[in-house]
Amino acid sequence: MSEKTFPLNREELEELSKTHPTPFYLYDEKAIRNNAREITKAYGIFPGFKEHFAVKALPNPIMLKILASEGFGADCSSMTELLLAEMAGIQGEDIMFSANNTPATEYREARRLGAVINLDDFTHIEFLEKNAGIPELISCRYNPGPLKSGNAIIGKPEEAKYGFTREQLFAAYPLLKEKGAKRFGLHTMVASNELSQDYHIETARMLFELVAEIKEKTGIDPEFVNLGGGVGIPYKPEDKAVDYQELAKGIEAAYRSIIVPTGLASLGIHIEWGRTITGPHGWLVTRALHTKDIYRRYIGLDACMADLMRPALYGAYHHITVPGKENNALTETYDVTGSLCENNDKFAIQRKLPKIETGDFVIIHDAGAHGRAMGFNYNGKLRCGELLLRSDGSIIQIRRAETSEDYFATLDRDVLKEFSGNN
Ligand SMILES: *Cc1c(COP(=O)(O)O)cnc(C)c1O
Repeated sequence: MSEKTFPLNREELEELSKTHPTPFYLYDEKAIRNNAREITKAYGIFPGFKEHFAVKALPNPIMLKILASEGFGADCSSMTELLLAEMAGIQGEDIMFSANNTPATEYREARRLGAVINLDDFTHIEFLEKNAGIPELISCRYNPGPLKSGNAIIGKPEEAKYGFTREQLFAAYPLLKEKGAKRFGLHTMVASNELSQDYHIETARMLFELVAEIKEKTGIDPEFVNLGGGVGIPYKPEDKAVDYQELAKGIEAAYRSIIVPTGLASLGIHIEWGRTITGPHGWLVTRALHTKDIYRRYIGLDACMADLMRPALYGAYHHITVPGKENNALTETYDVTGSLCENNDKFAIQRKLPKIETGDFVIIHDAGAHGRAMGFNYNGKLRCGELLLRSDGSIIQIRRAETSEDYFATLDRDVLKEFSGNN
């Protein structure tokens, strides 16, 4: 069971909404820091542990600074994510650059920052050499194909576009060495939002066996394995959260039995968790704008899937509560919707909820990762802003809501003025 709580009560929300009207995201700094410390403690049993927070989960430099102060680096996969990491003061090997189908400009930027480049394909060895040069430290992403089952979000590894095959890896490391690389890493990520500890332990075991084989066959000693992200969070109240201690201990058992005998006793364990770090500690705070009663009953919120698209994109469950009505009986069945002209713009479908009235706050839980970040501007919808509940109880805005001017910023008004429309 995972209890679904929200840090403010209805009165506090009323007060806050006077200066910060809904919708907005709220993140809980103290809970995120405590979570980061739990992870660091559990994984502290490994030499060279490093978490590179997956920037795509919550691409706000204030959050990156908070996490950096807890010892975390950043995992980036685009130019802008690299710039965000730099903006937050994260540098050098604290940045992991795990991109795919990567343009030359991004490889050059990653090199400029001294990031650890994680190659996604064999052909990128030559591409990187030509466009940015081969760095001293380099990592390769492994795709186990049929050797490993995947899960619903990421799909089967053999159908996934990421990574090198086994055979390609054995050829890649010696080639990279020949081209000047001196230090090596191995990466994989085969699942997304996976709650099974055994699944993640099996993935680690698979990588450890591969590292041992790489050492044996090529004479190359990788200095770290990066187990990627993909650890799930309990979106549903009945889901059980991953136990970091148990997970780390399971991985350690595999480490002892496979890695220690190879003599690679200081092989580092790196991870790129995003969802697990901030997901449960962020909420989309909205108000009910309309109630509607036709063939089904609807609650229309002041947010829409432009603010949070996971339910519409994956049919993902996000728990919903109504401040002040937490203990009311779930007497109603609603579809909870946004205002987009798309019928899949629904935060919940046929959900049992207490009776909701216009003006009620409606809290969408577990929105702290892959939430605001995935937003978009279809229908001219403007994405909401982000607030941070500081450890001292104060609340600051860390990103304002978008305005129409932001939406128009990519248009050229001079061209518009000149353009007659007639041909
Ligand atoms: C998305 C992603 C992550 C983070 O995944 P979470 O599920 O948020 O932990 C890490 N690494 C790579 C390469 C990714 O694409």
